[in-house]
Amino acid sequence: MNIFREPKKLQKWCRARKAAGAKIALVPTMGYLHEGHISLITAAKRRKADEIVVSVFVNPVQFGPNEDYAKYPRDEKADLAKCKAAGATAVFFPTPENMYLDRHSVYVNEEDLSKGLCGARRPGHFRGVCTVVAKLFNLTHPDFAVFGQKDYQQAQIIKRMVRDLNFDLDVVLAPIVREASGLARSSRNTYLSSAEKGAALAISRSLKELQTDAKKAVKAGKPLDAGKMSAKVSEALKAAGLKVDYVECVDASTLEPVKTLSSGTCVLVAVYDGKTRLIDNVLI
Ligand code: AMP
Repeated sequence: MNIFREPKKLQKWCRARKAAGAKIALVPTMGYLHEGHISLITAAKRRKADEIVVSVFVNPVQFGPNEDYAKYPRDEKADLAKCKAAGATAVFFPTPENMYLDRHSVYVNEEDLSKGLCGARRPGHFRGVCTVVAKLFNLTHPDFAVFGQKDYQQAQIIKRMVRDLNFDLDVVLAPIVREASGLARSSRNTYLSSAEKGAALAISRSLKELQTDAKKAVKAGKPLDAGKMSAKVSEALKAAGLKVDYVECVDASTLEPVKTLSSGTCVLVAVYDGKTRLIDNVLI
């Protein structure tokens, strides 16, 4: 497995591999890898990529001033071993200094899908995400890049960026990987005390329940009311001791609020569990 730290060196290697006819897959991550990340590498393997490049970079530009950039968990050695075991062929570990050179001044802004949900609560977050992902696309020129449905809004924004800026690659979306308890896997789960972890179970439980009810109602031709259902999920989250940041029912492609839950609806949740912000979602 190749390890790169210098953007230029990664770029040169990818260019050579591409010239030799290799199909390149990119898996962007912030590291502290778990089974969710591994599933993205597996998805790349399944699509027969010759080279699977995993980037591991806690991108300072996508964190707000009061967010967890400094304390975000990092474990380079474990990440390397996991990438190797999963079948990655290259890992990119840049530093903030070599990704953002002195007086870096160009950013990518998506101005439609980023308006609501996490975009509204984390100003500048998706600007940071789009900028770093655009840079990673330019460094690796992948045939496809794999993202998780866990970050549903992010994946839709990346798809839009690829379309609107004519990046020549496919965006592949991989399903959410959960713990046996239902909790969506996340590097941030490591912040949770056991009591907080218990409370967090209400997120997947209430979303799963809503998904089941909504599907039944669609089948019966009586779709559920989005406002009522969001309120019901909110109540369940509050009852578990979580602080609700949002519960929203939106059209899965435009991310605009919907009135009823149909087969094209995504229900997204963000909560604070103690100091930890957790997100999850389901598609109806
Ligand atoms: P992160 O390291 O949290 O920035 O995530 C890197 C990529 O892994 C993103 O595309 C995420 O959506 C994806 N990812 C994170 N957690 C999961 C999960 N539980 N299941 C599937 N994909 C995930």
